[in-house]
Amino acid sequence: MNNKRIYLSLSSQSGFEQEYVQKALETNWITSGGPNVDDFEIKIENYFNNEFFVTALNSGTSAIHLALILLGVKSGDEVLCQSMTFSASANPILYQGAVPIFVDSESDTWNICPSTLEIAIKDRIEKGKKPKAIIAVHLYGIPYKVDEVHAVAHKYEIPVIEDSAEALGSTYKGEKCGNFGTFGILSFNGNKIITTSSGGALITNSRKLKEKAIFYSNQSKDIAIHYQHSEIGYNYRMSNICAGIGLGQIKVLDDNIEARRKNHFFYREIFNEIESVNLSEVLDETYFSNFWLNTIFIKPSKNKNKENLRLALENENIECRPVWKPMHLQPVFEKYPYYGGKIAEDLFDKGLCLPSGSNLTIEDKNRIRKVIENFFN
Ligand SMILES: *Cc1c(COP(=O)(O)O)cnc(C)c1O
Repeated sequence: MNNKRIYLSLSSQSGFEQEYVQKALETNWITSGGPNVDDFEIKIENYFNNEFFVTALNSGTSAIHLALILLGVKSGDEVLCQSMTFSASANPILYQGAVPIFVDSESDTWNICPSTLEIAIKDRIEKGKKPKAIIAVHLYGIPYKVDEVHAVAHKYEIPVIEDSAEALGSTYKGEKCGNFGTFGILSFNGNKIITTSSGGALITNSRKLKEKAIFYSNQSKDIAIHYQHSEIGYNYRMSNICAGIGLGQIKVLDDNIEARRKNHFFYREIFNEIESVNLSEVLDETYFSNFWLNTIFIKPSKNKNKENLRLALENENIECRPVWKPMHLQPVFEKYPYYGGKIAEDLFDKGLCLPSGSNLTIEDKNRIRKVIENFFN
């Protein structure tokens, strides 16, 4: 039997990556910023119908950090954040010396619960501080309840940072995720739907904010022949080599989305037949997901639980991962306020991420299907 390892999330290459990287090397553009970075930004802006301004950075985490800085978040300020997410959504709040206020998920999308969000905002205002920003996440590529979340944000006039790191290609009412917030952020980390090896982007609707983001990401150099700085700077700009990889990768974005969606329909076929398992889906036809990762929720019975399924797959050299452990349960964050119940915690207890890479073959899928069907029969 072919027993090569099946990974959780690998992306496929277009074959053009090397050309762009080669050109950067030949022209000696081996630095942060450069022609590949400019071109990559234009390509992403094209993808967003040229309605937004994109700043290419060295990670999605840097993009969230710059969004907080551009919103004026400072030491002691409070920032609301979806608890069920990867730690990179929340860490930049601490970089600013601000206080994260975590909010529970709702079970439909696993994302920030709009009504718990409102409860949290009201209570924080009552306690004396209006939160400075909301970080909402399209987890695993499934959009959060866009209208509901933004209605709450709008009502209390709090800007939203839309963490679209996992959702490039997902849409709501035909509009791309990443464009609903005051700021949107993307990630091009190695496991995301397209990669620059490490990279990210900040999306805004203002040229001025883009210019300011570039300024901060390039050490906040004032206009002067000597090195002069009036503000704290960061070394966050994307490298010209990484952007070369990105220029190759953007050519396969649509293919990767299609491949990941095919994975989803493959899993749907399997889990339609298994009553104790729910495969995560979008709410309705107004939502479209890139299905970056497929996740399932297993109602445990006897020894049929998420950990045993993970072990059964691992036994066949198939990688699976538990879903993100909520931030309010993390040792580093547990002392911060949390609003909600046990929805995120329950998702963590019973949820599992299944192999969803853009490069899964039919053979891989047959191996996965066999283990899952054996496990539940
Ligand atoms: C990957 C990811 C990030 C951070 O992106 P990096 O490019 O790895 O810094 C942020 N939020 C979420 C939800 C992510 O999955």
